Amino acid sequence: MKTPGYEDWYTQVKHYTTRLVNIRSVSPGQGEIDVAHETLNMLQEDGLEHAFTAIGLDPVVGDACSRQNACAFLLGQSPQTVILLGHIDTVDTKDYGTLEPFALDPAALAARQLALADIAPGVAEDLREHPDDWMFGRGSVDMKSGVAVNIAVMRHMAALAREGKLALSVVFIATPDEENESAGVLQAVQYLLRLREEYHLSYLGAINTDYTTALYAGDPHRYIYTGSVGKLLPTFLVIGHATHVGEPFDGLDANLLAAELIRDVSMNDALCDDVRGQRTPPPVTLKASDLKTNYDVQVPIAAYFYLNVLTFSTTPAQLLERLCGYAQAALERVLQRKIEVERRWASNHQLARHPRSGIVLTYAELYEEVEQQIGQERMQTEITAAWNSMPEALDSRGRCLHLARHLWTFSGEKGPAIILYYSPPFIPHIAEMPCLLHSVARTIAEVHPELQLKVQEYFPFISDMSYLRLGRGFETAALTANIPTWQQGKASHPGEYHLPLDAIQELDLPVINLGPYGKGAHQAGERALMSYSFGILPQLLYEVIETLAGEIQANVKL
Ligand SMILES: [Zn+2]
Repeated sequence: MKTPGYEDWYTQVKHYTTRLVNIRSVSPGQGEIDVAHETLNMLQEDGLEHAFTAIGLDPVVGDACSRQNACAFLLGQSPQTVILLGHIDTVDTKDYGTLEPFALDPAALAARQLALADIAPGVAEDLREHPDDWMFGRGSVDMKSGVAVNIAVMRHMAALAREGKLALSVVFIATPDEENESAGVLQAVQYLLRLREEYHLSYLGAINTDYTTALYAGDPHRYIYTGSVGKLLPTFLVIGHATHVGEPFDGLDANLLAAELIRDVSMNDALCDDVRGQRTPPPVTLKASDLKTNYDVQVPIAAYFYLNVLTFSTTPAQLLERLCGYAQAALERVLQRKIEVERRWASNHQLARHPRSGIVLTYAELYEEVEQQIGQERMQTEITAAWNSMPEALDSRGRCLHLARHLWTFSGEKGPAIILYYSPPFIPHIAEMPCLLHSVARTIAEVHPELQLKVQEYFPFISDMSYLRLGRGFETAALTANIPTWQQGKASHPGEYHLPLDAIQELDLPVINLGPYGKGAHQAGERALMSYSFGILPQLLYEVIETLAGEIQANVKL
């Protein structure tokens, strides 16, 4: 059977991308179900109905929207298996403004390129540089073109399998919810473990085909990534000490303490990870607020904020320890400052008495302390009471805060204090590892100097890929004991947070990201460079798989 050439790939991938973009699949929503069905149709249509070893929808267990992954499996001559991965959901289309009615219609947007260039930065320049080579539309590059590439390559391999000529085995999984809470890929983890057992497979790793873009102005490279950035969301519950505004030295303004700490940790490059020449962006807050609900003339007793921390290597335990250090220092500084101000202000008056010291605790420490005071049984009753008193509208950050405040109140401790914990989501980082998949990715980059392919370790965006691997030595407890809503054992409260950490550790896949190239993901100017994404990328993906197959066959012969 003839291997498709550039023109064949281009035509097919453009066709599939257009059909996928046409389906609205904003996460979470019904459209994600429609696009999963259409993905299966595309894999099987035109005579490939019976070419797959297994194909169908795998329901996301417990999903409120009843979404499913679209899965296809081809058992080849070897149980060595490569996994292709892509997400079929998108972010919303409101950012298109007056062009929103055309957001899912690449042809209509192409006819309105000038209007698009007015609202989207960089479009005019890109059109000058590569005229007629951009496909616009929501999902064009993030990442329906990536899914389309997987479909085209998978179809070619299905045809090979039918002739008994498929050297290795291949799985393709298209997931919903990537732009939201990654429910699809977390389901895929279970599916992959099941499939591995059922067919006695050995996984070479997963190839994700998500969005890639220029990393700096004028960047000529196309990137292949062998790992991924991760993310933690440390959260600080800051407790002051109540007092009337007329007598500020008798208490402590929680906002002052929170502000002092935010100043120390937000945009602090000492908290960046620096690994083999790549650096995470510094942390920033995503939310900061006091916890007053109405106007009064007391200083705020409590405030909280959460900090977005991107990671390449820092573990939950390490980050918590460092942030406790910052919290302790900020607390001491604020109290010291208060004493100094009071000395100046009061001159020879008598100094106020409260408060002169405070405490910094992790959620796990606070939990243990309270449990020792009141015993395990009463502790469970109290936690259940806190869950029951939770307003329904809270999101997962709000639920954590509710539990942390409840526990603090119940401890009987007095402020000032800073309680540190993690809010969802937790997204693991993945480092490169010695494996066949990564060495093949490097080989492919080397044999195509004309494409300026560059292999980098950490994919810079949050993606589904993160949930496919968790180092064996990962200390689960430092994370789970510090997420207030973490589900202990079987689910007992709606809204609990859970990740199948054991299953991810068991799967432990090497990953690469080899995706379409474009610009403006999550913006109205979203666009895919068609020549690369439709014509070149499928060929590269196919070459990676062929090279893997060649290596395996060579090893068998040895
Ligand atoms: Zn994406």
